[in-house]
Amino acid sequence: MAEPRTRPPRGESRELTELRQLRTRQPELADAVDLHIALLELQRRVQARFPMPWIEVAPEWLKQQHAAGLPLLRFEDIPLDWTDFRLIFRQTADVLRRFDALDAADYQAIQAMSRDGHALEPLAVRWFNATAAPERLKKPRALQTTASPGALEQVLALAMRPFLERCADVVQQRADFTTWTHPHCPLCGGEPEFAVLTSTGDRMMICGRCTGRWRFDETACPFCKNDDRSLLPSFTSRDGLYRLYACDVCRRYVKAYDTRKGTRPVMLAVDSVATLPLDAAAIQRGYKG
Ligand SMILES: [Zn+2]
Ligand SMILES: [Zn+2]
Repeated sequence: MAEPRTRPPRGESRELTELRQLRTRQPELADAVDLHIALLELQRRVQARFPMPWIEVAPEWLKQQHAAGLPLLRFEDIPLDWTDFRLIFRQTADVLRRFDALDAADYQAIQAMSRDGHALEPLAVRWFNATAAPERLKKPRALQTTASPGALEQVLALAMRPFLERCADVVQQRADFTTWTHPHCPLCGGEPEFAVLTSTGDRMMICGRCTGRWRFDETACPFCKNDDRSLLPSFTSRDGLYRLYACDVCRRYVKAYDTRKGTRPVMLAVDSVATLPLDAAAIQRGYKG
């Protein structure tokens, strides 16, 4: 049932090629495409530097976590080099600022944090545990930064992505998530950012934190679990490639790539930009992503 993870080999730039083609086809998306190209290049550069994680977990523990609906990945499993992390955290802010996706005050505050490991490290751990292991969260200390929470969340998520994505690649090959029925990610507890309809018509969620995938039935909302079908409208893009699943209870939505209509596997960086017009339409109808 699970879609094979067709990740291109290291150094291969199929996503970059697809992004450039998208820019030619839809010049109105050029700025968003260029921002995503810059982020992708940065993330791939970091990934090329660190080894494939070797995640050793006891099968019994895996089974227990799975049965309890708890995520499998623990912070100590992530092959995180703090020097690398500080660098990508700072460079991510550079890229966002260059494309005007981060305001000047937030940018300055984030730059200052990236130079102070004592501020950044506990914050990264906390960000991860907020969804992956809420029971491990310690009392929050007053944040030593003036960066706005939204900006900080955005930069942290993007900077953690290359590390978490590698972990997801490894764990997904070993663990079986076909019986996972929860709306959150079985690996890190994150929310879905995107979805893909497989060749067999299953709807797989793609985690916004680690890009892990799991099946979640089309008949319920992955945010509030509403399963009243009359309150779950869906919209399809004109070319049929994408679908948007909305929820009239929590007013949130998730977009999906339909593999049956496409000629390539889903590519998060490409498909999230290609569907920006769908976001605009959803927001206009009063939904939020
Ligand atoms: Zn995840
Ligand atoms: Zn909902």
